[in-house]
Amino acid sequence: MKLSQLNINQLHQGLVKKEFSSREITKEFLKQIEKKNKEIFAYLSVHKESALAQAKKVDALIAEKKEIPLLAGIPAAIKDIIMIEGEKCTAASKILADYTASFSATVIKKLEDQGAVILGKTNMDEFAMGSSTENSAFGVTRNPCDPERVPGGSSGGSAAAVASDMCAYALGSDTGGSIRLPASFCGTVGLKPTYGKVSRYGLMAYASSLDQIGPLTKTVADAKIVYDAIKGKDPLDSTSVEVKDKEEKMDIKGLKIGVPKEYFVKGMDPEVEKVIRETIKKYEKGGAIIEEISLAGTTYALPVYYIIATSEASSNLARYDGIKYGFSKMKDSQNLLDVYLQSREQGMGEEVRRRIMLGTYALSAGYYDAYYIKAQKLRNIIKQDFAQAFAKVDVILAPVSPTVAFKIGDKTADPMSMYLADIYTISVNLAGLPAMSLPCGEAHDLPVGLQIIGPEFAENKIFSVGQMLEDLKK
Ligand code: GLN
Repeated sequence: MKLSQLNINQLHQGLVKKEFSSREITKEFLKQIEKKNKEIFAYLSVHKESALAQAKKVDALIAEKKEIPLLAGIPAAIKDIIMIEGEKCTAASKILADYTASFSATVIKKLEDQGAVILGKTNMDEFAMGSSTENSAFGVTRNPCDPERVPGGSSGGSAAAVASDMCAYALGSDTGGSIRLPASFCGTVGLKPTYGKVSRYGLMAYASSLDQIGPLTKTVADAKIVYDAIKGKDPLDSTSVEVKDKEEKMDIKGLKIGVPKEYFVKGMDPEVEKVIRETIKKYEKGGAIIEEISLAGTTYALPVYYIIATSEASSNLARYDGIKYGFSKMKDSQNLLDVYLQSREQGMGEEVRRRIMLGTYALSAGYYDAYYIKAQKLRNIIKQDFAQAFAKVDVILAPVSPTVAFKIGDKTADPMSMYLADIYTISVNLAGLPAMSLPCGEAHDLPVGLQIIGPEFAENKIFSVGQMLEDLKK
C-alpha cells in the first residue's frame, strides 16, 4: 500500500515506529496532488512550503523521542471557507478571490496544537450554497470515482481529496448536508456533529443556526480522532457548548434501529434503495431490532430549510459589500449604492444572489410572519419528530441521498432538482442533531452512503454503530 492510502491510525503508528517520517508522508501527498489535482480540481490552493516545514517540526519531535498527538505530522485538507491566518480564504467566490484571512479558525488552532500538517484549501460551492461543487467561481471539482460526475457538495473538494488520496483527512462544513452528501457520492466517511459541539469561530457564516464543521475521512475510527481533536466549547463562539461525551459502546444484539418510512418514497433510485435495505438487513442479522418509525415533518423540511437558510444567508452575506472585503467596483461607481450593487452583482454568482433575494424577501415586512415565523414553527415540529423517535430507538438509519453521484451539468439548469438532492440530510441540521455518512455499497458502480442519525451529543453512539458495519464488511 502507498503511504497516501493509509488511514490516520496507520500513519500515526508508522510515524511512532519510525517506519517513515512526516516529511516522507507529506511529500507523497504533494506528489498525489501534483498528479491528480489538474483533473479532479479538489484543491484551490496548496501550501507546500508551510506543510513541509510543519512536517519537519514533527520529525524533530519524534527524533527527540517525544510523545506525539494522534494528528501530529499527518496531512490534512481544509475547505476554503475555514480561515487560516495569512492564507487566502475565498469561499469559492469571486468577491473573496484575493482575500487573505487575518486570523485562524478555532478548529485550525486545535489542529495546529496537535501538530497537524495542512496541505491546502479545497474547492466548494460558492459560500457553501449547493450540492455539487458546480457553483464554485473557480471551476468544477470532479468525482474521483467517475470524473464525468459531480463529487456532491458543497464540501466536494474535501471529499474528492480524501477519496483520491490527496490528503489523509479533510475538514468540511455542513449546513444542510454539505459534508454527508459529498462523503456519500465519493465513498468516504463524513460526520456532521451536533450543533454547538464544534466552534464556528473562523468559519465564514452561511446560515449560522445550521452551520457545523466536521471531518471527512477514510474510516469511522479516523472520523472519531478528528472529531475529538476539534470539538469543545469555545469562548469565541457563544453557541458552542461543553457537553462531556459518553463512552456509548453499543452492542449490535438488541440495538434498536429506527427506519423512517418517509425516507423511502417515490423518486428514490430503486438500486440505491436496495443497497440501503440490504445494509439494514445486515444489522438485523447481527441481532439488531429494526423498527419502522415516522418522521412526518420530513415533507416540510425542504421549504423550511430554504426559508431559514436563505434568510440567515441574506443577513450574513450583507458584509460582502465591496467596501469591507475583497472585490470592489468602487472606482467605477457613481455613488455608494452603486458600489454595493455593482460589487455584489459582479462579485457573486447566480445561486448566491438567488439565495440572498429569496432570504431578503422572506424577512421583509409583510412576509416575515407568513414565511420566516411559519418556518421556525415547523422547524420545531421537525425537532419534536426526532425527539419522539429517539424515545423509542437508539439510532436512525437512512439513505444520505435518493441517487448516486449525478453527471456534471445534469441539474445546473433546474435549482429545484438540485435542492432535492438534500431531502434526507437537511432535517438533521434543522433539528441540530449529529449524523454520519458511511460507505455501505455500490449502485450503478458508484458509492452509496448510509446515514446514521443519533440523538444530540451522541456522536460516540454513531461511531460505534458505524464501526459495526465496517466490522461486518471484514
Ligand atoms: N445543498 C444545501 C444548500 O445549498 C446544503 C449546503 C450546505 O450544507 N452547506 O444549502
